[in-house]
Amino acid sequence: MTGVGGARVGRSSPRPYPMAPPPPPRPVRVTVPAAPTGPSGPENPAGLRLDMEKLMAARLHAVKVRPYLADALFALHVVEDRAVPTMAVDAHWRCYVSPGFVARTPVEELAGVWVHEVSHLLRDHHGRGERYARAHEEGGTGDARSSRLGRLRQNIAADFEINDDIYGDGLPRPTGAVLPSLLRLPTGLLMEEYLRTASLDGLAAELAWLDCGSGADGEPRPWELGPGGAHGLTRQQRDAVRFRVAEGIKGRRGTTPDGWQRWAEEAFHPPQPWRQLLGAAVRSAAGAPGVGENHTFRRPSRRSAALPGVVLPSLRRTPPRVCVVIDTSGSVSDSELGGALLEVAAIARAVGGRRDLVSVISCDAAAGVAVPLCRAENIELIGGGGTDLRSGFARALAARPRPDVIVAFTDGQTPWPSAQPPCRTVVGLFPRPAGTADEDDPDYVPDTPPAWAHVVAIG
Ligand SMILES: [Zn+2]
Repeated sequence: MTGVGGARVGRSSPRPYPMAPPPPPRPVRVTVPAAPTGPSGPENPAGLRLDMEKLMAARLHAVKVRPYLADALFALHVVEDRAVPTMAVDAHWRCYVSPGFVARTPVEELAGVWVHEVSHLLRDHHGRGERYARAHEEGGTGDARSSRLGRLRQNIAADFEINDDIYGDGLPRPTGAVLPSLLRLPTGLLMEEYLRTASLDGLAAELAWLDCGSGADGEPRPWELGPGGAHGLTRQQRDAVRFRVAEGIKGRRGTTPDGWQRWAEEAFHPPQPWRQLLGAAVRSAAGAPGVGENHTFRRPSRRSAALPGVVLPSLRRTPPRVCVVIDTSGSVSDSELGGALLEVAAIARAVGGRRDLVSVISCDAAAGVAVPLCRAENIELIGGGGTDLRSGFARALAARPRPDVIVAFTDGQTPWPSAQPPCRTVVGLFPRPAGTADEDDPDYVPDTPPAWAHVVAIG
């Protein structure tokens, strides 16, 4: 009987369980996967068109089995290209696809390749690959062969980082996917760690066909459209996709793999070591004259409640009270404000999650009220005018209880308070190239932050 979809054709009946004893275990043999190309014949015969329907069906399958990656999968822009061995990505979230590869690969396996390629982009293998190559002088400086080998090594290490836990659970491992077990390496390492711990040269020689594009290692490919080409995502759009995916994963704790959980926790972890910065601020403020009578560096010992009037020394510090002043003037971009809010979230984590100890003031030419972080559902940053952070400092110091630390995020184009505030000040400075101070007043040269402020670069 032939069903409409042919579902019952060729379906074999269950075979009886073989009675012969199982064969003795054989020694493990490491087999390098063959290239996922056809054994013979032209890769992309003339006239073969990209089967977009099949490719999109594969993407939908990927979204169905990995819903937390949906935003990223839908953000990719497909570019048909016959020079690409299989599928590859660039830093601008374009996905280059070989029509021949799509034609011969089953839909579920193609779904695995979608997830693999988008993983390179979410994990920023492009930026990390560039940094690694620069630090190890790979690519660009050597001859073409060693540069190609360096690129392949990085592509393999990046693939190890991805492939060790993304397949299974509705997503079959595509032919040719390389795993750390090929070199008897542990799973769960990062690209950089695989590069450091193992020589990948032997494997690279056998995997010459492997090419996931510059999105995997930072080295541009001849077929790529480059930064100026059509349909590329801007840095802000890329960050927005990564941010949404990371937030989605954090909201699905327990149902997403550990590797993705770790990624989501760390992807937007700001680089500033707030625990140290605030700790140093508190130590410095505690030693400063005239400071320390009116705040709570120390939690009173529990026994002091039973002995009124006697304050026993406590070994445990309470975290500092932090007032954050954010420069919301017109010269600060939206993505910088977004970055400042991520730093505020990190500050809250650094004070042990005590959001009640953190307050935020928006400040352009005038300062808004200090909004406690614990009451702000979504912090609304108000501003857009000129800049005078002095009003923000005054507002912060007028708050009761007074902050132990003031953290100001600004592009630095502001007058500063003439007197040192009676608490430690950390200034997070958005980078500005020299000579672009003020469009309206080209002669204006901003003051550098005062010496009493501890300055850290943001972004
Ligand atoms: Zn790859």
